[in-house]
Amino acid sequence: MGRKLQPANSPEAFATLRKWLDACKTNHPQCATKGPLPTRVINVGKAVQDFVRLEVVQPGQAAHYMALSHCWGRIQLIRTLKANYVEHQKGIPLAKLTRTFRDAVEITPEMGIHYLWIGSLCIVQDSPDDWEKEAAKMGNVYRFSYLTIAAAYSEDSNGGILRAKYNESKSVMKCTVGNAVGSVYVTFRHSDFASLHKQPLHTRAWVLQERILSPRTIHYTEGQMLWECRRARRCETGVPENALTLPGVRIWDGRLQFDAGALHKFWWNWYDMLHDFTARSITYGDDRLPALSGIAHVMEGVTKGGYIGGI
Ligand SMILES: [Zn+2]
Repeated sequence: MGRKLQPANSPEAFATLRKWLDACKTNHPQCATKGPLPTRVINVGKAVQDFVRLEVVQPGQAAHYMALSHCWGRIQLIRTLKANYVEHQKGIPLAKLTRTFRDAVEITPEMGIHYLWIGSLCIVQDSPDDWEKEAAKMGNVYRFSYLTIAAAYSEDSNGGILRAKYNESKSVMKCTVGNAVGSVYVTFRHSDFASLHKQPLHTRAWVLQERILSPRTIHYTEGQMLWECRRARRCETGVPENALTLPGVRIWDGRLQFDAGALHKFWWNWYDMLHDFTARSITYGDDRLPALSGIAHVMEGVTKGGYIGGI
Protein backbone atom coordinates (compact mmCIF):
# COMPACT_ATOMS: atom_id res chain seq x y z
CA MET A 1 0.00 0.00 0.00
CA GLY A 2 1.10 3.54 -0.53
CA ARG A 3 0.86 6.53 -2.79
CA LYS A 4 0.71 6.03 -6.52
CA LEU A 5 4.01 6.63 -8.26
CA GLN A 6 4.53 9.23 -10.96
CA PRO A 7 6.92 8.82 -13.88
CA ALA A 8 10.36 10.03 -12.77
CA ASN A 9 10.52 12.63 -15.56
CA SER A 10 7.09 14.12 -14.75
CA PRO A 11 6.53 17.59 -13.24
CA GLU A 12 4.88 15.83 -10.25
CA ALA A 13 8.03 13.78 -9.52
CA PHE A 14 10.26 16.86 -9.76
CA ALA A 15 7.85 18.70 -7.44
CA THR A 16 8.11 15.85 -4.91
CA LEU A 17 11.89 16.05 -5.05
CA ARG A 18 11.84 19.83 -4.56
CA LYS A 19 9.49 19.39 -1.59
CA TRP A 20 11.91 16.92 0.06
CA LEU A 21 14.84 19.23 -0.64
CA ASP A 22 13.03 22.27 0.79
CA ALA A 23 12.11 20.35 3.96
CA CYS A 24 15.74 19.32 4.36
CA LYS A 25 17.03 22.87 3.79
CA THR A 26 14.55 24.28 6.31
CA ASN A 27 14.83 21.67 9.05
CA HIS A 28 18.28 20.04 8.87
CA PRO A 29 21.28 22.31 9.46
CA GLN A 30 23.44 19.12 9.46
CA CYS A 31 22.72 18.59 5.75
CA ALA A 32 23.73 22.08 4.61
CA THR A 33 26.86 22.22 2.45
CA LYS A 34 29.16 25.19 2.20
CA GLY A 35 32.26 23.61 0.71
CA PRO A 36 34.23 24.81 -2.30
CA LEU A 37 33.37 23.97 -5.89
CA PRO A 38 35.42 21.08 -7.33
CA THR A 39 38.32 21.86 -9.71
CA ARG A 40 36.02 21.56 -12.72
CA VAL A 41 32.25 21.29 -13.14
CA ILE A 42 29.75 20.91 -15.95
CA ASN A 43 27.76 24.09 -16.50
CA VAL A 44 24.33 22.77 -17.49
CA GLY A 45 23.15 26.23 -18.55
CA LYS A 46 19.54 26.71 -19.52
CA ALA A 47 17.11 23.93 -20.32
CA VAL A 48 16.66 25.13 -23.92
CA GLN A 49 20.33 24.69 -24.80
CA ASP A 50 21.42 21.63 -26.72
CA PHE A 51 24.91 21.61 -25.20
CA VAL A 52 26.67 21.82 -21.85
CA ARG A 53 30.13 23.17 -21.05
CA LEU A 54 33.06 21.97 -18.99
CA GLU A 55 34.01 24.88 -16.73
CA VAL A 56 37.31 25.32 -14.92
CA VAL A 57 36.49 26.82 -11.53
CA GLN A 58 38.22 30.10 -10.66
CA PRO A 59 39.87 30.42 -7.24
CA GLY A 60 37.34 31.63 -4.71
CA GLN A 61 34.35 30.96 -7.01
CA ALA A 62 31.46 29.80 -4.81
CA ALA A 63 28.24 28.10 -5.87
CA HIS A 64 26.21 24.99 -5.17
CA TYR A 65 26.74 21.97 -7.42
CA MET A 66 25.23 18.52 -7.75
CA ALA A 67 27.21 15.29 -8.21
CA LEU A 68 26.42 12.14 -10.16
CA SER A 69 26.92 8.65 -8.73
CA HIS A 70 26.58 5.98 -11.41
CA CYS A 71 27.96 2.71 -12.82
CA TRP A 72 30.28 3.36 -15.74
CA GLY A 73 29.73 -0.18 -17.01
CA ARG A 74 31.62 -1.68 -19.92
CA ILE A 75 30.37 0.77 -22.50
CA GLN A 76 32.51 3.40 -24.18
CA LEU A 77 31.28 6.56 -22.48
CA ILE A 78 32.22 10.14 -23.23
CA ARG A 79 35.33 11.25 -21.34
CA THR A 80 37.44 14.35 -21.08
CA LEU A 81 40.91 13.65 -22.48
CA LYS A 82 43.93 15.88 -23.10
CA ALA A 83 42.91 16.01 -26.79
CA ASN A 84 39.35 17.32 -26.21
CA TYR A 85 39.93 19.30 -23.00
CA VAL A 86 39.70 22.69 -24.72
CA GLU A 87 36.84 21.59 -26.97
CA HIS A 88 34.80 20.43 -23.94
CA GLN A 89 35.19 23.91 -22.43
CA LYS A 90 33.62 25.41 -25.55
CA GLY A 91 30.68 23.00 -25.47
CA ILE A 92 29.64 19.33 -25.40
CA PRO A 93 26.53 18.56 -27.49
CA LEU A 94 23.82 16.80 -25.43
CA ALA A 95 23.60 14.22 -28.22
CA LYS A 96 27.12 13.07 -27.35
CA LEU A 97 26.24 12.36 -23.71
CA THR A 98 25.06 8.97 -22.48
CA ARG A 99 21.46 8.67 -21.39
CA THR A 100 22.38 8.76 -17.70
CA PHE A 101 24.38 11.98 -18.21
CA ARG A 102 21.54 13.62 -20.17
CA ASP A 103 19.07 12.73 -17.41
CA ALA A 104 21.38 14.20 -14.76
CA VAL A 105 21.66 17.36 -16.88
CA GLU A 106 17.85 17.55 -16.90
CA ILE A 107 17.45 17.04 -13.14
CA THR A 108 20.08 19.63 -12.08
CA PRO A 109 18.33 22.87 -13.21
CA GLU A 110 14.99 21.44 -11.95
CA MET A 111 16.54 21.78 -8.48
CA GLY A 112 17.64 25.36 -9.19
CA ILE A 113 21.33 24.44 -9.64
CA HIS A 114 23.62 25.21 -12.62
CA TYR A 115 26.64 23.03 -11.90
CA LEU A 116 27.00 19.27 -12.08
CA TRP A 117 30.06 17.11 -11.33
CA ILE A 118 30.55 13.97 -13.43
CA GLY A 119 33.86 12.14 -12.89
CA SER A 120 34.51 11.06 -16.48
CA LEU A 121 34.05 14.63 -17.74
CA CYS A 122 35.55 16.66 -14.87
CA ILE A 123 38.77 14.65 -14.48
CA VAL A 124 41.15 14.42 -17.46
CA GLN A 125 41.06 10.67 -17.89
CA ASP A 126 44.33 10.13 -19.77
CA SER A 127 46.41 12.33 -17.48
CA PRO A 128 47.88 10.26 -14.59
CA ASP A 129 48.84 13.50 -12.84
CA ASP A 130 45.32 14.90 -13.01
CA TRP A 131 43.79 11.59 -12.02
CA GLU A 132 45.98 11.27 -8.95
CA LYS A 133 45.31 14.84 -7.85
CA GLU A 134 41.55 14.72 -8.45
CA ALA A 135 40.99 11.17 -7.12
CA ALA A 136 42.34 12.38 -3.78
CA LYS A 137 39.66 15.09 -3.74
CA MET A 138 36.81 12.83 -4.83
CA GLY A 139 35.60 12.20 -1.27
CA ASN A 140 35.20 15.94 -0.77
CA VAL A 141 33.36 16.33 -4.09
CA TYR A 142 30.55 14.17 -2.69
CA ARG A 143 30.89 15.50 0.86
CA PHE A 144 30.20 19.06 -0.28
CA SER A 145 27.67 18.32 -3.01
CA TYR A 146 24.32 20.08 -2.67
CA LEU A 147 22.49 16.95 -3.79
CA THR A 148 23.91 13.72 -5.22
CA ILE A 149 21.99 11.99 -8.00
CA ALA A 150 22.36 8.21 -7.70
CA ALA A 151 21.48 6.25 -10.85
CA ALA A 152 20.73 3.18 -8.74
CA TYR A 153 19.02 0.86 -11.20
CA SER A 154 21.33 1.36 -14.18
CA GLU A 155 24.08 -1.15 -14.86
CA ASP A 156 25.92 1.22 -17.14
CA SER A 157 25.88 4.82 -18.23
CA ASN A 158 23.36 4.17 -20.99
CA GLY A 159 20.78 2.90 -18.49
CA GLY A 160 19.42 6.34 -17.66
CA ILE A 161 17.89 7.78 -14.51
CA LEU A 162 14.49 9.22 -15.39
CA ARG A 163 12.38 6.20 -16.12
CA ALA A 164 9.24 7.33 -17.90
CA LYS A 165 7.02 4.58 -16.58
CA TYR A 166 7.09 2.17 -13.69
CA ASN A 167 6.03 -1.38 -14.28
CA GLU A 168 3.35 -1.92 -11.70
CA SER A 169 0.00 -3.56 -11.33
CA LYS A 170 -2.98 -1.31 -10.70
CA SER A 171 -5.43 -3.01 -8.39
CA VAL A 172 -7.84 -0.79 -6.55
CA MET A 173 -9.81 -2.29 -3.68
CA LYS A 174 -12.77 -0.89 -1.84
CA CYS A 175 -12.00 -0.34 1.81
CA THR A 176 -14.28 0.39 4.76
CA VAL A 177 -13.03 1.76 8.07
CA GLY A 178 -15.88 2.48 10.51
CA ASN A 179 -18.34 4.56 8.52
CA ALA A 180 -15.76 5.72 6.00
CA VAL A 181 -15.63 4.02 2.65
CA GLY A 182 -12.72 4.60 0.33
CA SER A 183 -10.36 2.96 -2.12
CA VAL A 184 -6.99 1.41 -1.45
CA TYR A 185 -4.36 1.13 -4.12
CA VAL A 186 -2.59 -2.24 -3.99
CA THR A 187 0.69 -3.12 -5.66
CA PHE A 188 3.75 -5.31 -5.07
CA ARG A 189 6.38 -4.05 -2.67
CA HIS A 190 8.55 -1.49 -4.38
CA SER A 191 12.29 -1.43 -3.91
CA ASP A 192 12.99 0.58 -0.76
CA PHE A 193 15.88 1.17 1.62
CA ALA A 194 15.85 -2.48 2.71
CA SER A 195 16.58 -3.61 -0.85
CA LEU A 196 18.69 -0.65 -2.00
CA HIS A 197 21.90 -2.72 -1.72
CA LYS A 198 20.57 -5.04 -4.45
CA GLN A 199 20.40 -2.24 -7.01
CA PRO A 200 23.27 -2.50 -9.53
CA LEU A 201 24.87 0.78 -8.41
CA HIS A 202 25.23 -0.40 -4.83
CA THR A 203 27.24 -3.49 -5.69
CA ARG A 204 30.16 -1.22 -6.63
CA ALA A 205 32.95 -0.42 -4.15
CA TRP A 206 33.56 3.21 -5.21
CA VAL A 207 29.91 4.04 -4.67
CA LEU A 208 29.95 3.38 -0.92
CA GLN A 209 31.91 6.52 -0.11
CA GLU A 210 29.90 8.48 -2.66
CA ARG A 211 26.76 7.57 -0.75
CA ILE A 212 28.11 7.87 2.79
CA LEU A 213 29.83 11.21 2.28
CA SER A 214 26.99 12.90 0.38
CA PRO A 215 24.83 14.90 2.79
CA ARG A 216 21.81 14.44 0.50
CA THR A 217 21.17 11.75 -2.11
CA ILE A 218 18.27 11.04 -4.38
CA HIS A 219 18.32 7.36 -5.31
CA TYR A 220 16.56 6.54 -8.56
CA THR A 221 15.82 2.86 -8.01
CA GLU A 222 14.04 0.30 -10.11
CA GLY A 223 10.82 0.94 -8.22
CA GLN A 224 10.73 4.52 -6.93
CA MET A 225 12.66 7.60 -5.88
CA LEU A 226 14.23 7.38 -2.42
CA TRP A 227 15.41 10.45 -0.53
CA GLU A 228 18.28 10.12 1.90
CA CYS A 229 19.95 12.86 3.92
CA ARG A 230 21.78 12.97 7.25
CA ARG A 231 18.50 13.35 9.09
CA ALA A 232 15.72 11.75 7.02
CA ARG A 233 14.74 9.04 4.63
CA ARG A 234 11.66 9.22 2.44
CA CYS A 235 10.00 6.95 -0.09
CA GLU A 236 7.87 8.16 -2.94
CA THR A 237 5.17 5.66 -1.95
CA GLY A 238 5.07 7.26 1.51
CA VAL A 239 5.61 3.92 3.25
CA PRO A 240 7.83 4.58 6.33
CA GLU A 241 11.36 3.24 6.14
CA ASN A 242 11.03 0.51 8.78
CA ALA A 243 7.40 -0.41 8.17
CA LEU A 244 8.26 -3.74 6.57
CA THR A 245 11.41 -4.81 8.42
CA LEU A 246 11.48 -7.38 11.18
CA PRO A 247 11.65 -5.88 14.68
CA GLY A 248 14.82 -6.60 16.63
CA VAL A 249 16.96 -7.45 13.60
CA ARG A 250 20.00 -5.22 13.65
CA ILE A 251 20.91 -4.10 10.17
CA TRP A 252 23.47 -1.42 9.48
CA ASP A 253 21.42 1.33 7.96
CA GLY A 254 24.04 2.40 5.45
CA ARG A 255 24.95 5.67 7.14
CA LEU A 256 27.87 6.62 9.36
CA GLN A 257 26.66 8.49 12.43
CA PHE A 258 28.93 11.51 11.95
CA ASP A 259 27.01 13.60 14.43
CA ALA A 260 25.76 10.89 16.77
CA GLY A 261 27.83 12.26 19.63
CA ALA A 262 28.86 8.75 20.77
CA LEU A 263 32.22 7.73 19.39
CA HIS A 264 31.82 4.01 20.17
CA LYS A 265 28.69 3.94 17.99
CA PHE A 266 30.64 5.53 15.20
CA TRP A 267 33.44 2.92 15.53
CA TRP A 268 30.93 0.10 15.17
CA ASN A 269 29.42 1.82 12.14
CA TRP A 270 32.92 1.84 10.66
CA TYR A 271 33.29 -1.95 10.97
CA ASP A 272 29.81 -2.51 9.52
CA MET A 273 30.77 -0.23 6.68
CA LEU A 274 34.01 -2.15 6.02
CA HIS A 275 32.01 -5.37 5.95
CA ASP A 276 29.76 -3.84 3.32
CA PHE A 277 32.69 -2.35 1.38
CA THR A 278 34.74 -5.54 1.07
CA ALA A 279 31.75 -7.46 -0.34
CA ARG A 280 31.47 -5.04 -3.28
CA SER A 281 33.05 -5.42 -6.68
CA ILE A 282 35.71 -3.18 -8.10
CA THR A 283 37.21 -3.18 -11.58
CA TYR A 284 40.82 -2.53 -10.53
CA GLY A 285 42.07 -4.21 -7.34
CA ASP A 286 44.58 -1.39 -6.84
CA ASP A 287 41.64 1.00 -6.40
CA ARG A 288 40.47 -0.61 -3.17
CA LEU A 289 42.24 1.76 -0.80
CA PRO A 290 41.69 4.89 -2.94
CA ALA A 291 37.97 4.03 -3.06
CA LEU A 292 37.94 4.13 0.74
CA SER A 293 40.28 7.06 1.31
CA GLY A 294 37.57 9.77 1.31
CA ILE A 295 35.74 8.15 4.22
CA ALA A 296 39.02 7.30 6.01
CA HIS A 297 40.02 10.96 5.88
CA VAL A 298 36.70 12.09 7.34
CA MET A 299 36.94 9.40 10.00
CA GLU A 300 40.37 10.64 11.06
CA GLY A 301 38.81 14.04 11.59
CA VAL A 302 35.94 12.70 13.69
CA THR A 303 37.91 10.28 15.86
CA LYS A 304 41.24 12.18 15.96
CA GLY A 305 42.77 8.77 15.23
CA GLY A 306 45.38 7.89 12.60
CA TYR A 307 44.61 5.97 9.41
CA ILE A 308 47.36 3.81 7.94
CA GLY A 309 46.81 1.84 4.73
CA GLY A 310 43.31 0.54 5.40
CA ILE A 311 43.62 0.18 9.17
ZN1 LIG B 1 18.36 16.67 5.51
